[in-house]
Amino acid sequence: MKRHDYSDLVGPGVAGLVPYTPGQPIETLERNLGIVDAIKLASNENPLGASPKARAALDEHLTKLHFYPDADGFELKKRLAEKHAVLRECITLGNGSNELLVFLAQVFLGPDTSAVFSQYAFAVYPIVTQMMGARAQVVPAHAHDHPMALGHDLRAMYAAIEPSTRLVFVANPNNPTGTWLHHDRLRDFVASLPPEVICVVDEAYTEYGEPDVLGDAATWVDSCPNLVVTRTFSKAYGLAGLRVGYAISNPGIADLLNRVRPTFNVNALGLAAARAALDDQAFLKQTKATNEAGLAQLTSGLDQLGVAHTPSKANFVLIHFDQPAHSLSDQLSHHGVIVRPVANYGLPNALRVSVGTPEQNTRFLNALADALS
Ligand SMILES: *Cc1c(COP(=O)(O)O)cnc(C)c1O
Repeated sequence: MKRHDYSDLVGPGVAGLVPYTPGQPIETLERNLGIVDAIKLASNENPLGASPKARAALDEHLTKLHFYPDADGFELKKRLAEKHAVLRECITLGNGSNELLVFLAQVFLGPDTSAVFSQYAFAVYPIVTQMMGARAQVVPAHAHDHPMALGHDLRAMYAAIEPSTRLVFVANPNNPTGTWLHHDRLRDFVASLPPEVICVVDEAYTEYGEPDVLGDAATWVDSCPNLVVTRTFSKAYGLAGLRVGYAISNPGIADLLNRVRPTFNVNALGLAAARAALDDQAFLKQTKATNEAGLAQLTSGLDQLGVAHTPSKANFVLIHFDQPAHSLSDQLSHHGVIVRPVANYGLPNALRVSVGTPEQNTRFLNALADALS
C-alpha cells in the first residue's frame, strides 16, 4: 500500500518521536538465522521465570477470563499498601511501570514545560518528554574518572532545574548503566527540590541492591509530597509478559494519574499474578541469590577476558569495548546469544548483558571470548 505522510498534522512532539527499540525476541532471532536454542540476555528478564505462586494464581483465574478486571485493582493495591505502609490512595497501577511514566508526562508535561534527567538515563524518559512536546534538559553524567562514572550527577541535575521544570527523572539503579545513588544523597536531593517540581524515582531494579545502600524511597513520600516512586513486577518478580507496575505517591498526585489512566489498564491475569507474587518471598530470595552469583560470574569472566565493565547493582552489566559493539552483538547472535546494543544511548562501544542462569552466563562468556578472538 502507498504510505501517506500525516506527520504535518501532528504537533512537533509526536512528529519528532523515535520509537523505543526493545530487545529482540528469541523467536525472531531463531527465525531470521535458522537456529534453535537461542538465549536472550537482552531485556533484564528473570532467568528463573515467574514465581510458582504467581503461576498458580494464573491457573486459578483461567475460568474467569470473560469478566472485565477490577478497574480499581482493589486486592493488589491493598496488598501493596500493606507492603509499603502507605494508604491505598497513594498507589496507582500501571500496565508496566512504563505506562506510569507516560501518565506522569501526560499529567505534568506540555509544550511550555521541561523535564530534567541524566545522560544515559532510561530511554523512556526522553520519549515521554518528547511525546508531550516538553523540553528535555539532559544533564551530563559523571565523567569517566568519577567513582560512579556514567551515573547521575545530582548536583548538576539540581542546577539544571528551571522555572519551567515540572518533572525530574531519577533511576536508582539506572538502566542501562547499572549505576546507583546512595539513599542519603538521593533523599537530600528530593527534599531540596522546589515544591512545584515532581521527582520520579524509578526503582525498577531496587530488589537486586542492598537495602542499606539503595534505601526505600517509598518511605519518604510522607515527608516529600512531590515524590513519585515507581516499581515494577517485570524484573525481580519475573512477570514482564503480564505488564504490571505501580507508583507510590501523595494521594493528590495519584488522583491526577488516575484521571488519565485507562479504566482497565491492568488486566485480570496481571492483577492476580502480581498479588500472588508479593507473597512468594522464597522466589524473590532465590532470584536475588541467582543474580548476585551471576553478576560475580559475569564480572570475573569479563575481567579474565580483559573487558571493561561498569559496576552494577541491577540484574545486568554494561560492558565496554574499544570498538563499535554492533558487530560483536551480531557475532553473539550467531552463537544464539541475544544481548542489547546501546548505541541509542550514545554508547556505541558498549553492550548491556542481563544476568542469566549459570549456564547462560557461561554460554555468553564463551561466545564473547570467541567473538573477540
Ligand atoms: C525495565 C524498566 C522499567 C519498567 O518496565 P515495565 O516492564 O514497563 O514495568 C522501568 N524503568 C527502568 C529503568 C527499567 O529498566
